[in-house]
Amino acid sequence: MSGASYRVGIGFDAHAFEPGRPLILGGVELPSERGLAGHSDADVLVHALMDAILGALREGDIGRLFPDDDPAYAGASSVGLLEQVASLMHDRGFELADADCVLALERPKIAPYRDAMRERIARALGVEPERIGVKATTTEGLGFVGRQEGAAAYAVVLLERTQP
Ligand code: MG
Repeated sequence: MSGASYRVGIGFDAHAFEPGRPLILGGVELPSERGLAGHSDADVLVHALMDAILGALREGDIGRLFPDDDPAYAGASSVGLLEQVASLMHDRGFELADADCVLALERPKIAPYRDAMRERIARALGVEPERIGVKATTTEGLGFVGRQEGAAAYAVVLLERTQP
């Protein structure tokens, strides 16, 4: 057997707010007067999740897979990139057993959109929404999140080997 039956991965990402951009989190557009700045759609939640999966696969990070100086990824849908990461995961013989994610931002409130995010992420990964956890926290005014300069996200995943 080549390695363990289970792999864990952790991901982190942060992006600055920018007026006039759409706010895309977990593949869902939220009503907001500003979005996150970035080369792609800057979906910080999906970026953290992709890095967690790539970490568990020992495949580097999203910067290596989708370079941010590559015009192919300008304005790219991060959920579309997540589908590519899912294909890589399946090619390597793994399936997503479970994932949990934390968004750190002051506003808008995430709760009304949480299930839509879970469903969109689950669809991209080819699993049921039950396997995807999404929650959010503020930082009580502390740091760049608290000053509302940006948003951050953390993700952990458990991958299960489906092929030897
Ligand atoms: Mg990012």
